[in-house]
Amino acid sequence: MGNAKLSKAIAMFSLPAGHSCPGANECLCKSDRNTGKLTDGPENRFRCFAATSEARATNVRNARWRNMELLLAAKTVQGMADLINNSIPPFVNYVRLHDSGDFFNETYFKAWLNVAIANPAIVFYTYTKSLAFLVKYKGQLPANFRITASKGGKFDSLIEKHNLVTAEVVFSTEEARRKGLEIDHDDTLAIKSEKSFALLLHGCQPKGSLAGEAWKVLMRTVGGYVRNRQRGTPSKSVQLAVK
Ligand code: SF4
Repeated sequence: MGNAKLSKAIAMFSLPAGHSCPGANECLCKSDRNTGKLTDGPENRFRCFAATSEARATNVRNARWRNMELLLAAKTVQGMADLINNSIPPFVNYVRLHDSGDFFNETYFKAWLNVAIANPAIVFYTYTKSLAFLVKYKGQLPANFRITASKGGKFDSLIEKHNLVTAEVVFSTEEARRKGLEIDHDDTLAIKSEKSFALLLHGCQPKGSLAGEAWKVLMRTVGGYVRNRQRGTPSKSVQLAVK
């Protein structure tokens, strides 16, 4: 988000956080569709920022659920791909999938794969914890479809087995340094890196939790960056269009 260094137009596409994330584990948190109330998953280590955005704003929840419902109604790979294709705004150079949400099933994954193949001039990039789909189609991904495995999910065992490039959330710059990981501040690494990297914890974390304490320290030390990242808005937001 924000992407001060990436000057070209970036569109974001979002689905309901947690509800569309079959692989979410350490990050899992869902905002109730009607009330916005947050429920953390049983293994939650830090709270999904996207879910907190939904808790704060009904219009955010509604937009994400609308996208989800239109995709489910489209049913097939072709139907979903057509819907997405028809919804990408003009003059977009990058599409960030799943600013919130994830690949919720294989049909949907294949729909985006088809969209990427059909739009070679656009770079599509995302993180996923739906690692089985990534592993299955890794050999067929076009160069303009960049998917980074997101650590901390239910299927992490596939990461080492298939030598996947990963992103992991760290609670401090020191943790990233200790693990030998560069921190991605503006999606540059998500788009280009061939090496695993880190993302700094962001978003409001539950009071008293380890993540909550780490968040307080981050706000004191690298607060400007964290706030900007949280506040940043995409150049364009992709709302699925009903044709
Ligand atoms: S996978 Fe992403 S969107 Fe889904 S719950 Fe985890 S952090 Fe949130």
